[in-house]
Amino acid sequence: MEVEAKAICIEYHIPVTTFKLAKNEEEATEFAEQIGFPVVLKIVSPDIIHKSDAGGVKVNLKKTAEVRNAYRRILENAEKYDSAAKIVGVLVQEMAPQSTEVIVGAIKDPQFGQTLMFGLGGIFVEILKDVTFRIAPITREDAYEMITKIKAYPLLTGYRKTPPADLDTIINVLLNASKLVMDYPEIKELDLNPIMAYEKGAKTVDARIILE
Ligand code: ADP
Ligand code: MG
Repeated sequence: MEVEAKAICIEYHIPVTTFKLAKNEEEATEFAEQIGFPVVLKIVSPDIIHKSDAGGVKVNLKKTAEVRNAYRRILENAEKYDSAAKIVGVLVQEMAPQSTEVIVGAIKDPQFGQTLMFGLGGIFVEILKDVTFRIAPITREDAYEMITKIKAYPLLTGYRKTPPADLDTIINVLLNASKLVMDYPEIKELDLNPIMAYEKGAKTVDARIILE
């Protein structure tokens, strides 16, 4: 679940959106006020892997009333999607400002073992398959190459009104993800998707870890 995957990310110094797990509507509003508006609410269930498909993600909630409403709708949607799904709670998190989206992933290849992947978010990975791979563990040099060798790399160096992305931060995310999957050979898949890449720093918005 995202909440566990992000907790592991924090241990590995991978930047993630601030989050708190709410067990009821009151907690959700309390946490939203603590985190600061706007916030995002998401379903937390071991039985719901693709949260949006289940109507389990509500973004850009700007005030308490919207949080209450979103909390109820998320639970209703989850019930409709799979009435047998175990519901752990609702994750309240800061809303990360839009930016260039990157993806850092890892898969355990049967032949090569833990293998890291890098690409840009959205169509770049899904349709254009513009991604780079390196077998873990990777060096700083490898990480740099993974980023600069995708075809869409110029999008990360700044274009029009978009400032250049903080490459050092993305390199560190790749290196830390490499450490993480090397430390846990039982990880079959790691998916940090998307990560908002900023001029300074980055924020992982969604994280998934699948074990063997
Ligand atoms: P899913 O399980 O469906 O992949 P995500 O957590 O990725 O759920 O949420 C779906 C989409 O909502 C994300 O791809 C992103 O565009 C947006 N989103 C989710 N969380 C945040 C956040 N904290 N800040 C900004 N946008 C977010
Ligand atoms: Mg996602």
